[in-house]
Amino acid sequence: MVKREQIQMDIVFVGAGPANLAAALHLKNLIRKHNEEVEAGIKKSEKIEDVEIAIVEKGSSVGAHILSGAVMNPKALKELMPDFLEQGCPIDTEVKSDAFWYLTEKMKFESPITPPPLRNHGYYIVSLSRICEWLAEKCEQAGINIFPEFPATEILYDKNDAVIGVRIGEKGIGKDGKPKANYEPGVDLLAKVTVLGEGPRGSLAKQLISRLGLDKDREPAVYSLGIKELWEVPAGSFKEGHVVHTLGFPSDSQTYGGGWIYGMKNNIVSIGYVTGLDYLDPMIDPHAEFQKFKTHPAISRILQGGKLIKYGAKTINAGGWHTMPQLYADGVLLVGDTASFLNSQRLKGIHTAMKSGMLAAETILEALIKNDFSSNVLRHYERKVNNSWLYDELHPVRNFHGAFQRGRWSALINAGLQFLSGGFAWGFIDRESHQAGHERMLKLDQVKNGNKRYEDLKFDKKLTFDKLTNVYYGSVAHNEDQPPHLHILDPEICATRCVEEYGNPCERFCPAAVYEMEFNQKTGRKELKINFTNCVHCKTCDIIDPYQIINWVTPEGGGGPNYKGM
Ligand code: SF4
Repeated sequence: MVKREQIQMDIVFVGAGPANLAAALHLKNLIRKHNEEVEAGIKKSEKIEDVEIAIVEKGSSVGAHILSGAVMNPKALKELMPDFLEQGCPIDTEVKSDAFWYLTEKMKFESPITPPPLRNHGYYIVSLSRICEWLAEKCEQAGINIFPEFPATEILYDKNDAVIGVRIGEKGIGKDGKPKANYEPGVDLLAKVTVLGEGPRGSLAKQLISRLGLDKDREPAVYSLGIKELWEVPAGSFKEGHVVHTLGFPSDSQTYGGGWIYGMKNNIVSIGYVTGLDYLDPMIDPHAEFQKFKTHPAISRILQGGKLIKYGAKTINAGGWHTMPQLYADGVLLVGDTASFLNSQRLKGIHTAMKSGMLAAETILEALIKNDFSSNVLRHYERKVNNSWLYDELHPVRNFHGAFQRGRWSALINAGLQFLSGGFAWGFIDRESHQAGHERMLKLDQVKNGNKRYEDLKFDKKLTFDKLTNVYYGSVAHNEDQPPHLHILDPEICATRCVEEYGNPCERFCPAAVYEMEFNQKTGRKELKINFTNCVHCKTCDIIDPYQIINWVTPEGGGGPNYKGM
């Protein structure tokens, strides 16, 4: 029996992303203001003393696992810190111009006006990883404890299923599953409120939602995968502060997909492509879609003579309002991408994540004042969300992604009508048949020409790169002597049914070449090999595997990509 240390905190935030960092800092500010008002006699209440707040982060440091496009709407940050620029917020550049391109295989059509949802005036192009590092410094200055290399592996419950904290993963387990000389058991962090802000498809949120049925009567969560590269391009290739969004090539009209190019300082360009993880054809490879996107003449012209600097991949909650789980339970709140707060029409989630965290902080303050951490008080978080600008922004676009499950053209007509009507779906989507992405994937015998999708795509290592080369640019590192953090619940399916039915799509949907079907001499068949050290923690496999037999869990603390500066 492993003896674990228990550490009593008051509030524990899981994940040092924008939602939780904003939440923790806002909570500290609210407590200080509350105490000042009590002292001054403005508020009739007790002072709240000695609140211990911790943020745990699985990455080697804050920002290491943070990836985003990223054009930031500063609305929430202005509320958190009106003088954020004076306080040194590391924005890269202000957005100066926008464009929207429709791409066919060889042609580019620039829209004479940028559709209103894709206008970015007043926003900033940022490295979200840097913004998080900066917010973490502010948190630490305010007395918040931040623990990097602390992967939360399990939720702790009391006998009534109230959340009472999280268990941190142990260190020093060898690949044989046995403790090594450096073994350290993980601690149990106990808390009055635990806030899950783990990003999309949080591994703890997945456990919690399933155990407490928090997705009852909600539509299934739907995700996209964004793949991004940073390039240094020759001066004059792309204007600093210019933002382009694209639709069309290379995705087919049944697949949700689109690209971006953002001009940053010092001739750095952020370029990426998003593929909906509710695609039909099992032969689709989101990484290859992105590489193909770069071969379009309008894109390759920008990158010509440039060099790749960094690579990363991250999933995005694309489902929106209808797919949000219940946001609270006894002792726990869900924030940010974990709770599907992204605006999928605008492809913006930083400001909505931060605002959700700030509203969670306001709810926690109420709970601290009442000394009640049950759903009786924590349910007020949902009311606060419904009464805030989050509702005003997200509810009108509630049907945006759902419409894409009927194909691009009906979705675009629907998007236009929704814009005029405040979000009504106009019959272009059938809500009753809105499916989770993994349920939509067709079997090989239902797809024509899937194998020909990428026959012209060559990886020349100048413009286009294979997955392994890209992973190198993601600075991914895991200790090899540990059990794989990708749990295959039934490996026999991979070697039998999946070969026939879907052609092992894990080899394609993973953007980091983690999954490989390898011939086994002993059994005389191909079997799944897991190159887990390549994993960039995007969770795509957990989301889209058609049999739902891949369970992503946190590896040993500190492992994973290093997205510093991305
Ligand atoms: Fe993403 Fe899964 Fe591949 Fe890791 S193994 S990079 S989580 S798809």
